[in-house]
Amino acid sequence: MLNLSVISTSSGGPVRFVKDHKTRDMFDPLARFGPHRRSRLERSWARLFREEILPILPVHKISPRYSGTTGSPTKDLYAMLGIMLLQQVHDTTDEETVDQVAFNLKWQYALGISESKEREAYVCPKTLWTMRDILARENLSEVIFETVTEKLAKLFSVDTTRQRLDSVHIFSNMCHLGRIRLFVRVIKAFLVNLKRHHKELFVALPKEMTEKYLKKLRESVFSLVKPSESTKTLAELGADLFFLAERFHEVEAVAGMSSYNLLCRLLREQCTVEEDAGTKGKTVRIKPNKEIPSDSLQNPSDPEATYCGHKGQGYQAQIMETYCPAPAGEGENTEGKGLSLITHVSVEPAHASDAHALLPAIDDVAGRGLAPKEVVADSLYGSEKNVEGAAKKGVEVVAPVPGGQKESKSAYLADFTFSPEGGIERCPMGHAPLEDTSRGNHREVIFSVENCLGCPARKRCPVKAVRRGYGFSYDRKQVRMARRRAREKTSSFRDRYRYRSGIEGTFSALDRLTGVKQLRIRGMKAVRYCVTLKAAGVNLFRAAAVWDPERGGKPAGSAQIPGIRALAGRFLHRIVCLARRLHIFFEFGSADLPIPAPSAA
Ligand code: SF4
Repeated sequence: MLNLSVISTSSGGPVRFVKDHKTRDMFDPLARFGPHRRSRLERSWARLFREEILPILPVHKISPRYSGTTGSPTKDLYAMLGIMLLQQVHDTTDEETVDQVAFNLKWQYALGISESKEREAYVCPKTLWTMRDILARENLSEVIFETVTEKLAKLFSVDTTRQRLDSVHIFSNMCHLGRIRLFVRVIKAFLVNLKRHHKELFVALPKEMTEKYLKKLRESVFSLVKPSESTKTLAELGADLFFLAERFHEVEAVAGMSSYNLLCRLLREQCTVEEDAGTKGKTVRIKPNKEIPSDSLQNPSDPEATYCGHKGQGYQAQIMETYCPAPAGEGENTEGKGLSLITHVSVEPAHASDAHALLPAIDDVAGRGLAPKEVVADSLYGSEKNVEGAAKKGVEVVAPVPGGQKESKSAYLADFTFSPEGGIERCPMGHAPLEDTSRGNHREVIFSVENCLGCPARKRCPVKAVRRGYGFSYDRKQVRMARRRAREKTSSFRDRYRYRSGIEGTFSALDRLTGVKQLRIRGMKAVRYCVTLKAAGVNLFRAAAVWDPERGGKPAGSAQIPGIRALAGRFLHRIVCLARRLHIFFEFGSADLPIPAPSAA
């Protein structure tokens, strides 16, 4: 492998260093391994990563950061990006990552690191921290995810026409705070910062108030509040919050502090400030729980985390993946064999509605040449707006109508028979209407009194007594939804929709392999960084599971490519095996002389 150090002509910053990972090795990097260890390593994710992923990592996106002619050279930037990816995939801490790079032969092989070169095999934790900061701040984890996914999709000829979408909840590294603890934490954080940066202003505050939050013994009182006294305690905390917000809102130096802004945000979200008509003074009222918005502050240590009524505090990730339908005749609980890849990851606050995620996801994958023809999703994604929007992009959405089979007009209308123009032809009892007239944006239908009076289905039917019989009005949207509801009851819809649940297995695997549901970081940028790289890692593991290096990178079991490259590969492999046997048999050469691997040619 050739080494190239690139020295920028611009000034400032360390000299950047990259290796040429595209040129094959002159000497076999696995020469010291016996056949069993060699075989395991060559069939693992490490070889796929080394040969197909490492050379295409987007180093050009970070290399401008390291321009300059002074300072010590950086680590190999390809290897650094690879380390950041592997750290998230294996969910290791910085210290553990340093050890993996230094001592794990699989990591070293995957990253093209030469164990004998101390400079390559050791990465300082601070270097990891700096690289992570750059990647998270500039959202380069997304570029890495896209690069890896597109490469694997191309390499394995992944069929992207069928995809499924759902969201998974993610907890960041923050504790759940009740309202009292939240008020105390925010006020305390502000007072600590005020004392540190503007001591004269802090000293001027009433001592009783500052000691209440900053003295350990006094503060612990807030954790011993009886449920019967929580309303009174919250009112006291609200008054303190308001006092501090009012006192400093005209002090420019304090108003710019982030802890002061959090204090004002908490006041806005949790309290109502009312003016007393008699005294003209202001009073603070604590809002009832149901009035607190779901995007309100959950913990001052992670201000971007929000609240989801079903899943709790934190973030969520929208994940879209390809799937392979089972061949005809196979059981209902099976999926087809083949590589499924996560094609889209989008991290958002927990309160965001799934309904808004479908169209951006389709646009994202279509922009990268991975467009689906059919997306399977649950009812939260199945609004009429989404179905129509996706249809305009040439994508069919297979999702139930939102709201389930509850008693709505479209649910009743699902039992009626409609003409191709959208008019009612027959009611569920098989009667044709007397008239069905279009009136602007809606239609009005009337059935005869003889049919409807005493009809056993009358309770479920939306008809009401009108001048000339029994009737009701309906519009085009209700007809469309009624048709969809009718389709949902068919076996063909159920057969297509059954693949939706497969994405729960992906979430489970993502969590088991990479610990995505409980992250050890906080903040939107950091959460997005981790989740995106973890998804890229799952794609890598999935691809490695079906990879067969002897078949030119195609999934195991697929037809071999009768190309020159494949033939040459087989031929060289045999020569190398023969040479290795001769080497062992005759003790040919010195023990240190490596034997070329097939890839060396
Ligand atoms: S109530 Fe009238 S319209 Fe409704 S199902 Fe019965 S006959 Fe048909």
